[in-house]
Amino acid sequence: MGERPSKGVEVALISGIHGDELHGPHALARVNARLTKAARRSVLVEPFANPPALSARTRTAAPDHADMNRQFGAKATDGATSTRERAMALWDRIAHVDVLVDIHSGGRHEMIPHARLSGSGDRELPLISAMGLEYAVRYRRLPKGLLMTAGRRTGMASFGVEVGAGQEVRPELVELTVGAIWSLLAHLELVPGAKTSAETRLLDILGTRRATRDALFERSTAIGVEVEVGQRLGVLHDPYSGRQRDVVAPAAGLLVSALTSGPTIAGEKLVEVALPIV
Ligand SMILES: [Zn+2]
Repeated sequence: MGERPSKGVEVALISGIHGDELHGPHALARVNARLTKAARRSVLVEPFANPPALSARTRTAAPDHADMNRQFGAKATDGATSTRERAMALWDRIAHVDVLVDIHSGGRHEMIPHARLSGSGDRELPLISAMGLEYAVRYRRLPKGLLMTAGRRTGMASFGVEVGAGQEVRPELVELTVGAIWSLLAHLELVPGAKTSAETRLLDILGTRRATRDALFERSTAIGVEVEVGQRLGVLHDPYSGRQRDVVAPAAGLLVSALTSGPTIAGEKLVEVALPIV
């Protein structure tokens, strides 16, 4: 009695692939502390997936500075680098699981808490609802070599979670992430706890604005609000000439993510607007 069988659903919870995204490591450290020995047989937790990047608190790590979340699966972009070796070692540990959750914090972008899908979401959406997450974003085009995509290709229910913005750790967002993960584990009957569920809205990114040149971005709108097409969301400053250029909403919809104020480089994503898929 009390001991749960080790066969059944196996889950991998991953964070820290990008070393400047810190809500996941804080949340998974707390999840780890709550898991019983029996639960650990079914739940594999890796809070620190990319230790050298986390130590440096940078997205990537020396010596190769390759993006670890571009190194998974056959379509990985780089050759045998230290980062790719780390990715392969992680993959070897988790390749057998049924459910894979990769937690990120938006990097330089602040985002409304949401799940990210690399496919239709048929397997993933019930799990995302069980986490109480209000939004799931489906991307039409994704970079190659993502962990969540590699998981899905091997038949796992596999998705990403984005909470907050990098560098800064907000206690309420750590709390939200711990609660969401625990609800998922309760839903899968791997831990005791109340089963909750949210009506998850599936979103489609309608419009993205990118920086047209190297500049200083000053954001003037909070994320998570409905915006009108053409609405001013921030300003790009040329730090030398003093010239300013408005950054406006490319579409009407929900402002899902926006770069935090600070330096930006030509081509970097500034804002993303989404609408529910009906
Ligand atoms: Zn990330």
